[in-house]
Amino acid sequence: MSRTAIVTGGTRGIGAAISVGLKEAGYNVAANYAGNEAAAQRFTEETGIPAFRWSVADYEACAAGIAQVEAELGPIDVLVNNAGITRDAMFHKMTPEQWREVIDTNLSGAFNMTHPLWSGMRERGFGRIITISSINGQKGQMGQANYSAAKAGDLGFTKALAQEGARAGITVNAVCPGYIATDMVMAVPEAVREKIIAQIPVGRLGEAAEIARCVVFLASEEAGFITGSTLTANGGQYIA
Ligand code: NDP
Repeated sequence: MSRTAIVTGGTRGIGAAISVGLKEAGYNVAANYAGNEAAAQRFTEETGIPAFRWSVADYEACAAGIAQVEAELGPIDVLVNNAGITRDAMFHKMTPEQWREVIDTNLSGAFNMTHPLWSGMRERGFGRIITISSINGQKGQMGQANYSAAKAGDLGFTKALAQEGARAGITVNAVCPGYIATDMVMAVPEAVREKIIAQIPVGRLGEAAEIARCVVFLASEEAGFITGSTLTANGGQYIA
């Protein structure tokens, strides 16, 4: 049986690697993105994976987008809540808008995508919800009160929902990457990046494909006994 998966923010960075990893594992995959048309077009040309544009911060847009994907690809069995943004600032300089944007995308985005899919997964007796949190949701990070709060919120969301989904065959898990070599991290000034790498015991940034392999495992039938868990992949930088 070929299952269908959707990956939010699935056209760039970690999300693109997850989309490709799931496709290689035999899933029908849809990738969602926010607005970078050029990246989405390039991604679809290179991978053959269709890309669908909407913002995960908008509940109605998520419901409509999911309906469109399901009409084209069939019922969605696997949801990967990967879309995320940063709006870093020290707290005394953080604006309410910076707070809201990050919470709306990184935390409410997970609700907005999971909620419209939940009933169908319950009815079909199968589902996999995998949310990409962060090392900085586990340990907190200076300059990221908004991001750390959202990513910690994703872990609470995961643990609560895992309990609700268990009897219906739905597993709900989180992956906490450490620092991964994507646009998000490469946008950090090189000197800061060097300092970050010095704090990673394995001595390097992670690769997006390493996070994709975690997700492909959690999505599999064989991972049915794993729910409510946090899979940490951070090169030993933070051991919770
Ligand atoms: P990138 O910035 O490389 O890519 C982000 C993706 O999310 C893009 O596809 C982007 O779409 C999409 N996106 C952003 N906002 C929205 C939105 N409102 N609706 C739909 N899609 C959206 O990010 P990364 O690959 O680095 O990060 C992926 C996830 O992993 C994020 O949740 C991030 O917080 C988390 N993470 C990353 C780490 C890292 O080191 N890189 C470490 C720990 C966690 P578009 O292309 O249209 O802009």
